[in-house]
Amino acid sequence: MQQQKAKALQPDASRQSLRDLTTNTIRAAILSGQYRPGDRLIEDKLAAEAGVSRNPVRESLRALEAEGLVELKPRRGAFVATLTEDDVLELIELRASLEGLAAKLAARRGDAALVAQIDDLLARGDAAATEPNDNALAELNHEYHELLACAGANRHLMEVMQLLRAKTQWLFGSIMTARARDSWGEHANILRAMRDGDDELAGLLASRHVADVGRFYLARDRDSSELDVDAIGVLVPPVPTSARSRSR
Ligand SMILES: [Zn+2]
Repeated sequence: MQQQKAKALQPDASRQSLRDLTTNTIRAAILSGQYRPGDRLIEDKLAAEAGVSRNPVRESLRALEAEGLVELKPRRGAFVATLTEDDVLELIELRASLEGLAAKLAARRGDAALVAQIDDLLARGDAAATEPNDNALAELNHEYHELLACAGANRHLMEVMQLLRAKTQWLFGSIMTARARDSWGEHANILRAMRDGDDELAGLLASRHVADVGRFYLARDRDSSELDVDAIGVLVPPVPTSARSRSR
């Protein structure tokens, strides 16, 4: 017992990585919708699923609480976090701003290899949009926005956006198919503006894209009568008509 305790107090790389692996497994299960918001997370069950003991599971749940994905309630246990309407609006606002910044930077940097890669992805996205498959679309959507962030070439922005993207993707998973055609059309317009080196337009289109997906989500999955959906529009001005026709 004494020995075990001493061992546990040592900084131990393998213990750390076991916790990280467990955290990644549980995070993926939450973000993929395997566990829904409000679901109780049972330590024994999670431990069995991840093939680990309860200790790393407990540590992982604390780490995921810090990320906002899990709620730990005293004497009641761990639950998948539920997002309030304010949370949803705030996430959309933040992501719309940052996605715009990433696209703006990407247009300025004009990395030809990444632009070609995004172009390639657009063809796959368009094809997937006609054959609705939530998982394939979620995957491609993730890839598109990750490449856009790469093209923005700001490591710190990419880091901030990674978790933010995971959380919004979690929200938007349920509308991925219904809005696929519009979304991939918008993705193409953003790339066109990037190619033209029009950083202002690329930024605006990217922000607008996130805001419009957010509005669609709010109008469909929530009682929008109680929500100020237009609040998102305040932060993201509409794309000027002249720029819109230019981008097509
Ligand atoms: Zn998108």
